[in-house]
Amino acid sequence: MPRRRQIYEGKAKILYEGPEPGTLIQYFKDDATAFNAQKRGTISGKGVLNNRISEHVFTLLGQIGVPTHFIRRLNMREQLIRQVEIVPIEVVVRNVAAGTLSKRLGIEEGTQLPRTLIEYCYKDDALGDPLIAEEHIACFNWASQEEMHDIADMAIRVNDFMCGLFAGIGIRLVDFKLEFGRIWDNDFSRIILADEISPDSCRLWDMKTNEKLDKDRFRRDLGGEAEAYQEVARRLGLLPEGADNEVLDLETHRKKRGK
Ligand code: C5P
Repeated sequence: MPRRRQIYEGKAKILYEGPEPGTLIQYFKDDATAFNAQKRGTISGKGVLNNRISEHVFTLLGQIGVPTHFIRRLNMREQLIRQVEIVPIEVVVRNVAAGTLSKRLGIEEGTQLPRTLIEYCYKDDALGDPLIAEEHIACFNWASQEEMHDIADMAIRVNDFMCGLFAGIGIRLVDFKLEFGRIWDNDFSRIILADEISPDSCRLWDMKTNEKLDKDRFRRDLGGEAEAYQEVARRLGLLPEGADNEVLDLETHRKKRGK
């Protein structure tokens, strides 16, 4: 079989040419990076779980009318998506102070914010994805005013929906990052939600114990990252109860057996 054409390789995902024009295949890797790739590692089975979790969340968001790039899951690690022109902005939505917000402003982690906060970062690895103001976005024409209106609107809708989704399974949605893309129809473009939503891109704390169920386990060397991702998938009803969750797919299985 001819090898598929690789379009892009990121830190946690690979994009391949899709079967039809305007589509791509998004492959989820087990690779994990933090602090702008200064820390690297792998979380066994992460790609499989993120593929499932992201499929689940994007499908539900689609059902409430948020347009997304997700078309369908193809297999354990791959999903078919719409090809978009990525807007070079990371949109961070925060409900509770944590991470860089706490560091930057000296607000204790875990402090409930008086209102939902949206922050923007410029997507540039070499610069370490710096925090920017909406003024920068307008000044450098990274997105139009109308697009920014749609993006902020969708970010709030996604937050409202996901807060409820996770609260229902005993998880506090502390913060998360979204990415958006343009799809073109002749000379007109519209904004849709792209990338992924998973424990790689969200902070998820157990409501009772405050235990971290996300990539902070890797970032902060807490251990148990694979188990935390599995726990999120299990609570979302994506893992069969009582199944041998150790064996997630053949690839992981083979690696574990050292073959
Ligand atoms: O690190 P920081 O506190 O700014 O992260 C805010 C949220 O955005 C976290 O949920 C984190 O997982 C996510 N994030 C991300 N990718 C980045 C930066 C942040 O998914 N490059």
